[in-house]
Amino acid sequence: MKGNFKRKEKSIEEFVEGIINEDRVTLAQAITLVESNSTRHFEKAQQLIEAILPHRKKAMRIGITGVPGAGKSTFIDTFGTFLTNKKLKVAVLAVDPSSKVSKGSILGDKTRMERLARNEFAFIRPSPSGGTLGGVNRKTRETILLCEAAGYDVILVETVGVGQGEFVVRSMVDFFLLVVLTGAGDELQTMKKGIMELPDLVVVNKADGDNIEKAKKAKNELNTMLHFLTPYTEGWKTKAVTASSLMETGIDEIWDLIKEFFTKIEQSGLFEKRRNEQQLEWMHDMIKEQLLRMFYEHHEIKKLLPQLENDVLTGKKPVSSTVYQLVKSFSNLLK
Ligand code: GDP
Repeated sequence: MKGNFKRKEKSIEEFVEGIINEDRVTLAQAITLVESNSTRHFEKAQQLIEAILPHRKKAMRIGITGVPGAGKSTFIDTFGTFLTNKKLKVAVLAVDPSSKVSKGSILGDKTRMERLARNEFAFIRPSPSGGTLGGVNRKTRETILLCEAAGYDVILVETVGVGQGEFVVRSMVDFFLLVVLTGAGDELQTMKKGIMELPDLVVVNKADGDNIEKAKKAKNELNTMLHFLTPYTEGWKTKAVTASSLMETGIDEIWDLIKEFFTKIEQSGLFEKRRNEQQLEWMHDMIKEQLLRMFYEHHEIKKLLPQLENDVLTGKKPVSSTVYQLVKSFSNLLK
């Protein structure tokens, strides 16, 4: 048989059936559909998302961030395995704002989470590559929905502590965890502004061997600092704890805190409130994205744009009025 034998694309019904029957191959194919940049796939993906919506499970959506080398993937491997031992199904997704540049994902890589990658209760998906951060945002949100329809209990969304990844992930999860290294005091100096205001929990990782004392010190410093910040989640005190992903210590405590958090926000109604707000935020993000797509894909705009760009570059026309005219022409084209 020839190598380029192409498999027939599944119908919506086949996708839905496979997903709700928790078939990982179908789930992976559905995510590929959602991640596709083609208009035809986009439309089909939207039909699929609509079809799976009623089948979703209410999963715990947990974001995980930290600088490269902080130990995110090791932590996810350990924590994810810990959860699957409790018979919970875990999906690991990634938002990687750098993947566009590097043309490859540095997150969610299967080889970085060896145990989890071989675990039948776990599903790992690298970051969608290419496209805008807005595009990655949509794809990840829709992938979360697909995973929920496939019965995953915990969705871990990993992002690297660079770019806008943390803010994007914070806006799609219920709980946000920041992994930091020992000597966090120094690290905090270099940390981007505002990051410390995002997490619901800070984990000082690598608290093992010679590092234990340093980790405890960092934890105390962080707790002092967090005390002066307004917690991201109303009614919840963000605190720092130590853990070792390698030695598998501190993982129980982290899980207890996460469970306590979810119980609390479900009781206070914040869970629903936050999800609703995120839903609306997503809706508005999508409006922007779709309008942009319609604009740039319109054949008349495609024709007009190069000349106008040239006019702007050669100083023939100012930017503002050119954009104004262009958008006006676009709205006339829609009439
Ligand atoms: P990531 O870039 O944030 O995903 O970090 P990795 O999980 O790839 O970890 C970076 C390095 O730190 C690797 O060499 C890990 O083996 C190591 N590491 C991760 N967690 C721990 C830990 O708890 N203790 C120790 N000693 N090393 C760790």
